[in-house]
Formats: sequence, C-alpha cells, structure tokens
Amino acid sequence: MGSVNANVFASLKMELKSSSAEILTPDAPGYEDSIKRWSDTCIKRAAAVVKVTSAMDIASVLAFAKEKSIPIVVHGGGHSTSGGSAIEGGIVIDLCKMRQVSVDAEKKTITAQGGCIWENVDIEAAKYGLATVGGTVNHTGIGGLTLGGGYGYLSGRYGLTLDNLLSVKLVLADGKLVTASENENADLFWAVRGAGQNFGVVTEFVFRAYEQKEVYAGMLMFPPDKIPEIVAFANHLHEVTNGDQCLLFGFTCPPPMNAPVVVAAIFFNGPAAAAEEFFAPLIALGPVVNTASTIPYDALNSLLNPACGFGGRKLFGGGNITMPLDPAFVLSIRDEYMEFINTHEGMGESLLLFEQIPYQKILETSNEAMAFANRGKYYNVATCFKWYDTALDAEVRTFSRTFMNKISQEGGLDRNRKVGDGEGVGQYANYANHDVSPTVLFGSNAARLQELKKKYDPENLFNKNHRLLPQSA
Ligand SMILES: Cc1cc2nc3c(=O)[nH]c(=O)nc-3n(C[C@H](O)[C@H](O)[C@H](O)COP(=O)(O)OP(=O)(O)OC[C@H]3O[C@@H](n4cnc5c(N)ncnc54)[C@H](O)[C@@H]3O)c2cc1C
Repeated sequence: MGSVNANVFASLKMELKSSSAEILTPDAPGYEDSIKRWSDTCIKRAAAVVKVTSAMDIASVLAFAKEKSIPIVVHGGGHSTSGGSAIEGGIVIDLCKMRQVSVDAEKKTITAQGGCIWENVDIEAAKYGLATVGGTVNHTGIGGLTLGGGYGYLSGRYGLTLDNLLSVKLVLADGKLVTASENENADLFWAVRGAGQNFGVVTEFVFRAYEQKEVYAGMLMFPPDKIPEIVAFANHLHEVTNGDQCLLFGFTCPPPMNAPVVVAAIFFNGPAAAAEEFFAPLIALGPVVNTASTIPYDALNSLLNPACGFGGRKLFGGGNITMPLDPAFVLSIRDEYMEFINTHEGMGESLLLFEQIPYQKILETSNEAMAFANRGKYYNVATCFKWYDTALDAEVRTFSRTFMNKISQEGGLDRNRKVGDGEGVGQYANYANHDVSPTVLFGSNAARLQELKKKYDPENLFNKNHRLLPQSA
C-alpha cells in the first residue's frame, strides 16, 4: 500500500476527541518511541500509532481503518519477533494505555486489561498473596503470550496460561464488544484460546488465581564441560518431578568474555530446604554463578530480564525434545549452534534453551478442547538469535528454521509426520514465525479455526498473526 497522508487522520482525531486516546503520526513527538519493539527487526514505520484507552476507541479505529482501507495491527507487549504487532504504512492499535489490573481475592480471579505486561499482573496479584500462570520474563505482554498459549513456572502445577483463562472481552472486526467464555460465545472462546490474535482486540482478560507463597529460584552458570552431567540431571528431573520444579537450560556466549557457557534457570515451588535437596546434584557440579534463593513470586519472573532486554535484531524459533535426552545429541546441537554464533559477528548474546516445564498438568486438557494444539509428551526448545547487522537477517532466518527442524526431528517428535487427531503439533505458535502454516501450528483444529474466522472476521482484518484465512473446510 502507498503512504498515508497524515491529514487523513483528522477525522479520527475528531472522533476520539472526548477520549484521552493519542494519535501519533510520524511528525509527532513520541512517535519514534511508539514504534519500538523488543526486536529491532520489528520496527516498522506505521502511518499512525493510536494509543487507545477503551473498547469504544478501538471500535472507532477499526471503523475508520475499514472506511479508508488502511491495514491495522494490534500492539500488546511488543515481544513477537515475527512482526505480528508492527506494520509499515498502516495503523497500530497500541494498548499501552490499557494496563489496569484488579483482583477479586474472594473469588480468586484477576482481571487485566489487554495491554498489560506480566509485571502489572504479578505485582497486583501478589498484594493479595495470589498469582496466575504468567510468562518467565515479566516485560512480555499478557496479550500475545496468553492468546498463543502461555508457558510459565507455574504450568507444572496449574497448566498453561490459557488453561486458567476464564473469559475475555474483545472488540470484533465489526466493532462489537463481546464477552467470550465457556458459557458465552463458546465457539469464539475456543478459537481465542490459541489463535485469539486472529479474531479481535482483547480489551480484558479474566484469569483464575491461586494462593502463592515464596518460591526457590535463581540462575546458574556452568562451564560447557558439565553438559553431560546437566543432561543427566534433566533426565532425572523428568522422572521424579511432581510438577513443582522447572529447569530451563541452554547455551549462550555473552560479551564481554565471549566464552561459551551453560546457563540454567531453576525453580522449585516450595521451601528452600526441599529445593536444595532436589537440586543438590546440579549444585554439586559447582556452578560458577549461583543466584538461587527464596524469593517472592512477583520477583521470579524478573530473573531472566537481564538476559532479555530490548534492542538488537532478534528472532525466536521453536522446536521440541522428548526424554530421555541423549548427552551426545545435546553436545552435537551445542556444537552446531556455537559454530554458527562464533562465525557470525555480534551474535554472542543469542540463547538456546531446553525448557523443562513439567507437562503432566498441561496434558489433562485435550488438544481439541481449544484451538491451542501443542500438548504432548515433549518439552519446548526455544532459540532466540540476537545480532546487529541487517545483512545477516536472511541467513539467521534460514539457519533458525533448518536448525529447529533438525532438533525436533532428531531429538523430539518428527515434525514432518502427519499430525493425527488429538496429537500435539510439536510447535509452540508463540515461538514460530509466520512461515509456519496454520496446519502445522493447529493440526486438526486448523479447519475449525478457518470456519470460525469466516464467521467472526470474514474480511480478514486481523491478518498479521500466522496467516489464518477465513474459509470453509
Ligand atoms: C523475552 C521473551 C520471553 C518470553 N517468555 C515466554 C514465556 O515464558 N512463556 C511463553 O509462553 N512465551 C514466552 N515468550 C513468547 C511470547 O509469548 C510471545 O512473544 C508473545 O507474542 C508476546 O506477546 P506480546 O503481547 O508481548 O507481543 P506483541 O508483539 O505485542 O503481540 C504478539 C501478537 O499478539 C497480538 N496481541 C497482543 N495483545 C493483544 C490483544 N490484547 N488483543 C489481540 N491481539 C493481541 C499482536 O497483535 C500480535 O499479533 C517470550 C518472548 C520473549 C521475547
């Protein structure tokens, strides 16, 4: 589409006059900040960024965009690395002014506006001694993370973020504000839980909350020669976990030393003495860094923040691994990964993580119960490549795709297999890029999703996430 003249927005400004919404066109102070995203690859020059404050504002923007044929995108926390919340020449519906959270301590529910980040939710809930399943990095948006799935340290006990979602309010493509829950617009609620980004703008999430005491958690760092023993511990954890322990471990090569290290985030939902006993074999390996201690739950999701700051070019990739892990396989993956990192300028901050978040609780819900279809007896593997030189963009993308396929094929489910009814797809949509098809991401749920897309967004207004098209099966 061609460039949009800033004057075009005069009528929208009039329409939003009584609201405290802001319309930022490229000449406006604050515009440059408003198009920043977690990854610099997703900085796109929108024709306007509209910082909305309510469902009514959102409906006005949608109607205006349709009338003028200007494409839109929704910006939650801005962490998607596939560009799902950024747009060149279109309108960004920016939810950053919608970050209110309220807690009903009696009913044990958390109501959060659609633009919240996890920090908003964790801190407010903690005031009541409560928590829900949030992401492991607290500046991530609740919007994208929840709608695509939601794995967190509490998933072993309570399932995915989606499994704890009681209802949403969302503005549909036609501007209507509706509630979706098990009892209201149940088909929409089914679709929203896994593919919600394709169906509307969620203005409000209601989550189930749980009493949450302090937890034992921290970061460990080991020299690479400890990999076989760490893998042995991962296999042991897999056998003995009751859902209250997590181990996220993997490889990075951070400056200023630029030396390869193994990093591990450990989590134990219980008292320090039991945690120390549980992780004793790992601690006995003599980590060169060990920050593990008892901390409040609302501090837990900031542990990984220092390794996950804004800035730089970044790309997430997802795959899966099945247990037991073979140390020789992990070493071969490490070698291939480090070879790529070390032969490409400025990539040392990249990270590969095996995410051992126990899945028994997650498996209590079926892959047909909602659109999300990544439940199976495997763990996610995530890569986050980070680099600075735009000339590397294409090469990193190609390497990431091939490398993640290889991990899943050689160490996990074979992703080229045809996914049968009820089987997990082996690919977490929130780690996948837009070149992964809806069938790969949603398996046999893809057909129903496309039907529902036809019902709720026939003109495909919300088209920036995973290319789900409105069509009949
Ligand atoms: C540092 C980091 C840590 C992460 N940790 C975890 C983790 O622990 N667990 C996990 O499961 N995932 C994790 N992820 C992946 C994360 O779930 C996705 O990146 C997710 O898309 C981020 O959501 P966002 O709102 O921040 O991103 P955005 O880029 O703002 O949004 C992503 C997509 O969701 C849409 N969207 C956002 N909000 C709304 C809304 N209210 N209504 C409708 N659509 C909306 C956007 O339009 C876009 O298509 C992590 C990612 C990063 C970068």
